[in-house]
Amino acid sequence: MTKTMDRFDYDLLVLGGGSGGVRAARMAAQRGARVALVEAAALGGTCVNVGCIPKKLYSYAAGYAEAFEEAAGFGWRVPEPRFDWATLKANRAREIGRLNGIYRDLLKGAGVEVVEGWGLLADAHTLQVGQRRMTGRHILVATGGTPFLPEIAGRELALSSDQMFDLDPFPKRLVVVGGGYIACEFASIFRGLGAEVTQLQRGGRILSSFDQDISRFLASEMGKTGIDLRLNAQVERIAHTPKGLHLTLAGGDLLDADAVLFATGRRPNTANIGLEAAGVRLDAQGAVVVDAHYRSSVPSIFALGDVSTEMQLTPVATAEAMALVDHLLGPAPGKAARTVSYEYIPTAVFTHPPVGTVGYTEEAARAEFGRVTVFRTEFKPLKHTLSGRGERTLMKLVVDAASDRVVGLHMVGPDAGEIVQGFAVALRAGATKAVFDGTIGIHPTAAEEFVTLREPAPE
Ligand code: FAD
Ligand code: NDP
Repeated sequence: MTKTMDRFDYDLLVLGGGSGGVRAARMAAQRGARVALVEAAALGGTCVNVGCIPKKLYSYAAGYAEAFEEAAGFGWRVPEPRFDWATLKANRAREIGRLNGIYRDLLKGAGVEVVEGWGLLADAHTLQVGQRRMTGRHILVATGGTPFLPEIAGRELALSSDQMFDLDPFPKRLVVVGGGYIACEFASIFRGLGAEVTQLQRGGRILSSFDQDISRFLASEMGKTGIDLRLNAQVERIAHTPKGLHLTLAGGDLLDADAVLFATGRRPNTANIGLEAAGVRLDAQGAVVVDAHYRSSVPSIFALGDVSTEMQLTPVATAEAMALVDHLLGPAPGKAARTVSYEYIPTAVFTHPPVGTVGYTEEAARAEFGRVTVFRTEFKPLKHTLSGRGERTLMKLVVDAASDRVVGLHMVGPDAGEIVQGFAVALRAGATKAVFDGTIGIHPTAAEEFVTLREPAPE
């Protein structure tokens, strides 16, 4: 993208001000490109407004329930704690409002023009926002995704994660449908905050794309916190009754609830934005089909983040944005052009206890490498020797036997996300089990277990 002039109003028009769109707009403008960003709702997108950030704040809130209980074993006398949902909601809203402002200031500071409104592609170089038409040499579609709810009778009575943050009143009885990231995280959050939670997963395990040990272990730990997890359970119908909501499950089981959350996946936001008219090809899920440089079937139109990527994670969207900017504008002086490697992307699920994982599951590693060695440990964390809590931790390494490379690292336990982030660097760097073995642990921590696992798990 050469900095121009002439035919186009802008060098880059960005549709969507979420994780990917904001990063791309800001980086491109900082390099001197003329950039406008169109956003219909609050700046920051899903992650800031109804995703990662408010979810993690609520997860911290839920964690206090455990902390108050555990404190007694350490000598603390804590009066009967009382939770105030309204305070949490108000404090979250204030913090999110502050972040929205920071995003606005960052964009403004970089010289990005922010245009409020619903944007539509009018053609390969034009966005329409209300009455305004804007042309761009390149257009980036970064419109993210939206919750998907299956077609069942009474679907309109169910909620998506978007509506959970401001729910009123607090649901005493919550049914969570799904077994993925959002279902598990919200089940943990609302259980911690005091709701009776029933979680219904259609298949035989939760977190079905994760290592099987992780799924099984997390299900057991979530069960210990009081979540009534039911596997192979499907909702057939939801009805309104004077006492709340009434669910009928396949097989005839009945459930009553105050609120029902469907966390059954998300779909790309590609409807009603003019993509078809502009000739942009979509896949069967409605995602924009892009090449390795995020270019769609229309050469001037690019897409990244949840609208086009299978890995719906904020750091993936922002990494893609930076790679795209380097591709269009050339790398920053003295630096190589950034690209995104989709291997060894670490991820965490902020359940109680949380999950952290990077690399191959045991099953995928066996399929890919043939012979693998597995190292596994399960233990009661030191803290719980006094806290009285029955929670346990699982840690697991998957090693390619031929090369000795550690190709998978998985954990369920306190701080799993924090711990796995560091190990992700080692796995990307190709660390072998011998390198792990030669690394001195930090004592006493849970993380040190990853460098002291000596005996392979029995096959
Ligand atoms: P988005 O952030 O969704 O941004 C898209 C933006 O486009 C939105 O602001 C939308 O309003 C705007 N838009 C759409 N259409 C138009 C239009 N026509 N005109 C104008 N504006 C438009 N990821 C993590 O890495 N860690 C987490 O802990 C995590 N937790 C999550 C929790 C929840 C409940 C959810 C739902 C998601 C979570 N995610 C998490 C995923 C993460 O939020 C997404 O991967 C990320 O936000 C994707 O960024 P994006 O830029 O592709 O899209
Ligand atoms: P997921 O894909 O993680 O999970 C969807 C769940 O819904 C699965 O358990 C799936 O079952 C189930 N499901 C799908 N369709 C149906 C149906 N028709 N009826 C009943 N159950 C169904 O999606 P989420 O909505 O939880 O989250 C969307 C994405 O957002 C995640 O994939 C992740 O990328 C991102 N995210 C990331 C977070 C993080 O980084 N911590 C937190 C929250 C979201 P099955 O397992 O059988 O397929």
